[in-house]
Amino acid sequence: MKPVIGFIGIGNMGRPMVRNLIKAGYQLVVYDLREEAMECLADVSVKKASSARDLARCSSAVITMLPASPDVEAVVLGPTGVIEGAKSGDIVIDMSSSYPASTRMISQRLAAKSVRMLDAPVSGGIEGARNGTLAIMVGGEEKDYEECYPIFEALGKNIYYVGKIGAGHTVKALNNLCMACSMVITSEALVVATKLGLSPQKVIDIINSSSGRSWSSQFRFPTFVLNGAFNSGFTIDLMNKDLEMATRLGRELHIPMFVGATVHQLYNYAVGRGSGSECHTAIIKYIEDAAGVKVRSTEGG
Ligand code: NAD
Repeated sequence: MKPVIGFIGIGNMGRPMVRNLIKAGYQLVVYDLREEAMECLADVSVKKASSARDLARCSSAVITMLPASPDVEAVVLGPTGVIEGAKSGDIVIDMSSSYPASTRMISQRLAAKSVRMLDAPVSGGIEGARNGTLAIMVGGEEKDYEECYPIFEALGKNIYYVGKIGAGHTVKALNNLCMACSMVITSEALVVATKLGLSPQKVIDIINSSSGRSWSSQFRFPTFVLNGAFNSGFTIDLMNKDLEMATRLGRELHIPMFVGATVHQLYNYAVGRGSGSECHTAIIKYIEDAAGVKVRSTEGG
């Protein structure tokens, strides 16, 4: 029988993920700090919980899709948290992009109550969440991963078991390090090209059929940058948090991360300048400002 799933964090990613779980035949109980977030699911059959504790009482698998580790800690371990309502044998699946050491700490606290945990962060953005094509990277006990595989299948396409608890969150932070660096380096290239009077559209087309291409150049620039839309739904705040986690992993191991640390500084600076809630692709505006040009396509939308 399919477990009743409790889903906490009905934001940009959580909303479409809940819809896909319902489509796959799961019963859902949802909780978010913001009442209006839960109202966005008014057209589908979900039960609303009044706290994370209440949600855990009436579900056997709890998924968290929250901004960052401090939120996951509060929601799972807080006085009205999941840990207060979960039963022995239940499982918590943190699909947020969280910090691995925090994940391991939460997992130990849950284990003391015989509650299991997997970390299963995702990649693919809101579009991937909508289409059920997310990449999912999972850490924890392999038998728990196998048990939860049907849940992951309802949400994603490329599903990987990575290793012990926290391993999924480690890979996710490192993936986003690569994504942020490609976003910034492609921004620099296009700002230089624009300053030199070249067509940014033509330059991105050439990069995308040449060796400089990346996820950012192929999917982010045409969809969110060149048309000035800047509405991917993945914010500068969230990218800055992921870069903080990735570079912290390097710092703890005394591994120099010259490029990653610089890109982190740029995102951190953008947060300090009040751009945290803007799309992560809007980081190009800081490079444009330095050059006094705007990289926008006049061809197409
Ligand atoms: P979001 O800010 O849109 O949604 C987070 C939700 O959590 C909000 O609705 C918020 O009200 C809720 N929340 C926060 N604290 C809470 C608490 N204490 N109790 C209950 N609810 C609480 O964020 P998002 O874009 O959906 O991202 C969620 C996670 O997924 C983040 O870790 C992010 O890094 C990761 N992620 C995002 C994307 C993306 O494209 N947006 C892609 C991959 C991974």
